[in-house]
Amino acid sequence: MKIRLLPENVYSLIAAGEVIDRPASVVRELIQNSIDAESTHITLSLENGGKGLIFVNDDGLGMDEGDLKIVTFKHSTSKIATVEDIHQIFTYGFRGEALNSISIVSNFEIESCQREEEEGHNVRIHFGETEKIQPSAITKGTSVTVRDIFFNMPGRKRFLKSDNVEYNYCEKEFMNLAMANPEISFKLISDGRIVHNLKQGTLEKRMTEIKGEEFMNNSLTVNYFDSDIRVYGFIGKPQIYDNRRFNFFYVFVNKRFVFYPQIKRAIYMPFGSQLNRHFTPYIMFIDLDAKMVDVNIHPAKKEVRFFKEDQIFSTVSLSVRESIRHHGRSSKNEDVNMDISRTIEKPEAFVRDSLLFSDIDFALSEKNSESRMQEYSRFWQFNDSYILVDLKEKLYFIDQHAAHERVMYERVMKENEKISSQQLLFPFIVRLPSELYEFYDANKEKIERWGFITREFDKMKILLEGIPSIINENFEQHDFLDFLTEVYSTGSSMRAEEVNKIIACKAAIKAGKKLKISEMEDLFNQLFLCENPYSCPHGRPTFLTFDKDEVGRWFRR
Ligand code: ADP
Ligand code: MG
Repeated sequence: MKIRLLPENVYSLIAAGEVIDRPASVVRELIQNSIDAESTHITLSLENGGKGLIFVNDDGLGMDEGDLKIVTFKHSTSKIATVEDIHQIFTYGFRGEALNSISIVSNFEIESCQREEEEGHNVRIHFGETEKIQPSAITKGTSVTVRDIFFNMPGRKRFLKSDNVEYNYCEKEFMNLAMANPEISFKLISDGRIVHNLKQGTLEKRMTEIKGEEFMNNSLTVNYFDSDIRVYGFIGKPQIYDNRRFNFFYVFVNKRFVFYPQIKRAIYMPFGSQLNRHFTPYIMFIDLDAKMVDVNIHPAKKEVRFFKEDQIFSTVSLSVRESIRHHGRSSKNEDVNMDISRTIEKPEAFVRDSLLFSDIDFALSEKNSESRMQEYSRFWQFNDSYILVDLKEKLYFIDQHAAHERVMYERVMKENEKISSQQLLFPFIVRLPSELYEFYDANKEKIERWGFITREFDKMKILLEGIPSIINENFEQHDFLDFLTEVYSTGSSMRAEEVNKIIACKAAIKAGKKLKISEMEDLFNQLFLCENPYSCPHGRPTFLTFDKDEVGRWFRR
């Protein structure tokens, strides 16, 4: 046996074939480049499922003549420069090998015009020969044309499937990127026919377009974030998951589609036994510090490795749990939409004297909770405003609004830097009187920290896109006006404590609201988990107690 070094051209062909294994990988790499280039409109055009032609056009930053000269060289990238950068990757690409590989295995052309430049340029690599760079008519962004993929790799070419099958692979890559980037418009044309035309918009809108209203109307929205991780997405409810049509599981890490079935358990766990674990569809996005994840282990970057995987799992479970609480404990009793059932670390004293149960089971069925209650206590509501509890020879008389206000207040006080937000499904426009508008304008950042997501819309008008996660009652235009007015009237200090009181008041259930027994029970538990359960943040008492002797005396016993 004689060992020899492979000639460079053979070696690079093999390497290129590893990066690009079918038209769909070209589609993925080209669209990712367009996204990395900050494009807002991306068009993909295919012929014969990508085997004949793959064309991607964008309106991104573009490249100048110098860039184009080296863009197809091996390891040419603008995205990283040093070893340290590898640990802080915010772009899809960073290896600088996609265009090189694509240009080796196809007839390749790239045209680009950098923003603010007058003239664009064009480079062609035809049957392996790089032609001279030419001026081009392109005026904005970049277009890449890839024809005759694998013309020089007959073995690989033979391996490709039918046009239809290859088209499906391409469409999948297109969709994965479109799902993760709703702020970009995506168009897909196949053999001259427009197949998808997705306009830029919110994630909900994009998902509705892609997965349909039926799925979206029957799914639970997850939206959780704290300082270093954000988990959001959609999980099918029972109506949907018996339906095999909705049999999909998507996980995106930092907007990158990944194959990560291990996460399933963390997503399903909070549902207890209610879920059909094989068929409950989900689309889950996890955004986190690039340092926490390694996307290098797979050339197509489809697999990830998390550092501190356990923490990621528990955050995902927590996010789903929070969402179940927000939307009702189970999809069977959706009308429970009051958020008063979160477990908080309890003070020792309370645990010892535990009133009902220490570990709230989120998937607890209504029946179950009723029977537990029979054992330990009884709850009533008086005048839809007060809760009466008979417990351990005492009668508790609780003001539901004040009590919930206390619970909410302690909860927001715990959120240190930023109060977490929830996206409104239907953002609304709020017209602000000029004085308030000025106040808003001067304090936008703070308002965001308080959990409100706003965008300037027009003169004196803003679009309210998100509110603090803890607010569960219907939140309307006037509520936001009230909030701003109240904060405004606290004067210039705007101390966190004061603002949190206002938010707690907005988030708390009102007097006059009928409560279910389970809700009363939750509120009662939550109140006594507070550090100071005795008064609301404004100082009013939250409850009174009467012991059996006192009640006996009323009746001169
Ligand atoms: P990578 O994406 O890993 O950097 P590529 O080979 O995919 O490597 O691209 C090489 C470089 O070419 C990119 O770093 C980028 O600077 C530039 N580039 C590629 N596609 C585009 C595009 N659509 N718009 C602007 N620049 C692009
Ligand atoms: Mg790239």
